[in-house]
Amino acid sequence: MKFLALGDTEDIAASCHFLEIGGTGIVLDSGTDPRRDGPNSLPKFDWVRERAQSYVDHALITHAHHDHMGSLPILVEEFPHVMAHMTDATKQLLDFLLPASARLQKKRYEKHETPHEPLFTEDDLDFLSHVYLSHELREEFDLTGMQGRAPITGRFYSAGHILGSIGVELTFEEEQDGETQERRLFYTSDTNMQPQSIIPGGEYPDDTDVLVLETTLGADEESEQTSRPEEYEKFRDTLSGVLERGGTALIPVFVMGRAQEMLAMLQRLKNEGHIPADVPIYTAGSMRAIAGIYDDTHTTTPRLDENFKVFDVEQERVPYSSDAKADVLDGPGIMVVSSGMMFEPTLSNILARRIVENERDAVLIVGHAVEGTPARRLQEAAAEGAGAPVMLADGHGPQPVHCAVERFRFSGHSHRRDLLDLVEQLSPETVLLVHGEPAAQAWMQQAIEEAHADIDVRRPDWGNLIEL
Ligand SMILES: [Zn+2]
Ligand SMILES: [Zn+2]
Repeated sequence: MKFLALGDTEDIAASCHFLEIGGTGIVLDSGTDPRRDGPNSLPKFDWVRERAQSYVDHALITHAHHDHMGSLPILVEEFPHVMAHMTDATKQLLDFLLPASARLQKKRYEKHETPHEPLFTEDDLDFLSHVYLSHELREEFDLTGMQGRAPITGRFYSAGHILGSIGVELTFEEEQDGETQERRLFYTSDTNMQPQSIIPGGEYPDDTDVLVLETTLGADEESEQTSRPEEYEKFRDTLSGVLERGGTALIPVFVMGRAQEMLAMLQRLKNEGHIPADVPIYTAGSMRAIAGIYDDTHTTTPRLDENFKVFDVEQERVPYSSDAKADVLDGPGIMVVSSGMMFEPTLSNILARRIVENERDAVLIVGHAVEGTPARRLQEAAAEGAGAPVMLADGHGPQPVHCAVERFRFSGHSHRRDLLDLVEQLSPETVLLVHGEPAAQAWMQQAIEEAHADIDVRRPDWGNLIEL
């Protein structure tokens, strides 16, 4: 078996790993790099031919985050006979998100926000869904390539990360030391062993030979020391305090996954009487369409409560005009809006600039804010003390921060102790660490090696072909 990382493995970059197994070419995910733009954001698809002297028969798309699926249209252009395997929920999300991405790329190019022409247009996507094949969880499906010398079988396991997300197991026969042996590989992709508000925790095979493991929270000591019930209580107390003093609570979220989970949590707080049932919740934009897909699949995908629907949570649209915004920001109220990192000119950035100077109000950060982003700058300013200055957007400010700024850990990823438990459970021969910062991978490598001297732990370099 050959393994070649086509995207940068030393960060949350474009997830795309090429495997050649007995003449069959498979890619695990086909993402884009969120830190880069245009062609630079793509995985190095040329390397499949140049470095592995191979081609791609099948793509496995684990979930509908852009760092895992954003380059699928380009992969299909490069390898026209590729078949893309995913769950039905992921297929529905792709049918909505990829055209939205095409429109956004076009708009940014036309407004000179980027020098790069769109990677694909809406028209290019018309025929794409014909290469999608969807499979049920745990159903076996064939992945043998055109030149494959032995059969390869795939099987999905729910990953507990977002709607439709899976980890995938490959089972195949391979020659080892002159003998044919059955071998298995399990790719976790982004995974969460713990239940969230809507999505239950992930499921996994009993064991495997090669484990391709994500490491997003590998350097995050704090995340293993907090528990979801504790974070929930802290969130409940903070939010009810803001609403009691008549303030507005701004919750910046990612539209795909985190937004729907937060709405479910707010509904629970209302049902339990911790916040008033009539306090308005404002939402906006594409998160409403995604909520519709969550609701359409509520009986066919893993759920903690099959009867819960995102649209049963009463929501009002954030108004467009500035005066109307001022009215709703008068509070009390809850704004669940994108983007999670508060990039300008998204709604969370615009609204944050209007409330940061008000003591009554609060910004509740519920995901990971990457260094250098406005959400992180706001957290850092708030930590310096009341009135510390922050620049949330070019040409605005600096503004003194007087509102409350709190961070809560409701991650869609497993913390590192859980990942170590998973290694223990699957007892692989080899672990490949991917999808995390160098510090995160280093911590995971050391911890696995200390506990299991017999496991071969590797950190595949971007572009280095390795034999397994
Ligand atoms: Zn993800
Ligand atoms: Zn990811």
